[in-house]
Amino acid sequence: MESNGFSSRVIGAVVIALIGLAFYMSQTQTNPVTGEKQHIAISTEQEIRLGLESAPAMAHKMGGEIPPFDPRAQEVQKVGAYIVSHTAAATSPWKFKFHLLADTHTINAFALPGGQIFITLGLLNKLQTEAQLAGVLSHEMGHVLERHAAQQMAKTQLGERFVSAVGVAVSDPNHPGRFADATMVAGVVDHMVQLRYSRQDESEADQWGIKLMAQAGFDPNAMIEVMEILKASGGKESMPEIFQTHPNPDLRIQQIKTYLADHPPAAGLSEGRNLNEVFKNN
Ligand SMILES: [Zn+2]
Repeated sequence: MESNGFSSRVIGAVVIALIGLAFYMSQTQTNPVTGEKQHIAISTEQEIRLGLESAPAMAHKMGGEIPPFDPRAQEVQKVGAYIVSHTAAATSPWKFKFHLLADTHTINAFALPGGQIFITLGLLNKLQTEAQLAGVLSHEMGHVLERHAAQQMAKTQLGERFVSAVGVAVSDPNHPGRFADATMVAGVVDHMVQLRYSRQDESEADQWGIKLMAQAGFDPNAMIEVMEILKASGGKESMPEIFQTHPNPDLRIQQIKTYLADHPPAAGLSEGRNLNEVFKNN
């Protein structure tokens, strides 16, 4: 516990400070991208810090991060950065960063508050085109733009948990004033990865995904292909994030088709390159 105690304590300190604030302050904010009034207790800066400081512990839970020089990690970063720079995300306050995780068994993607986006190698290996990769990344970006995690944190007693963690640490007679230990920080990260979005959140993320894909020049019909791929590979016990709280893939696909019929994409959008070709040429 002592060997990696320092970084854990740094993460713990930042997380606790931020969530403590979140617990004690409660306010309504206007979402800078959507203009929607939301019940969120932390500032955009705090949200970005929270995601940044939790990202290493999060990556550690899923096999660690594939190094940035790896062509597959480069492709994830390239497609992600392209979406950011060609869409409404560019003028948002969020600091987007895209991570490829080494876990090949888990088929998943998720977002931390503030813009840290993760996809597992298990999921990347299932994708065939850049447009599908863009679909996964832009769905997760949708959760960030809508501040869904921060909203859920305000709804659940996540703040309370952090405050009790501080209380226990402070009351430790052997280490007065010491930060929460690694176990508590791990518990906190566990809770964050299990944050459940509402069905409405998932539908909003799908619609953002479609909008971002189209703005970046990718054919949003690839979002349907993503859903089909996830549907085919998802087991009951390990639902990918995208299906966690909105588990009926067929209904989801139907909703996406309806949305696309109501908002037909412009002509000339692209599937992007074939990922097998991209990785073969590297
Ligand atoms: Zn989602």
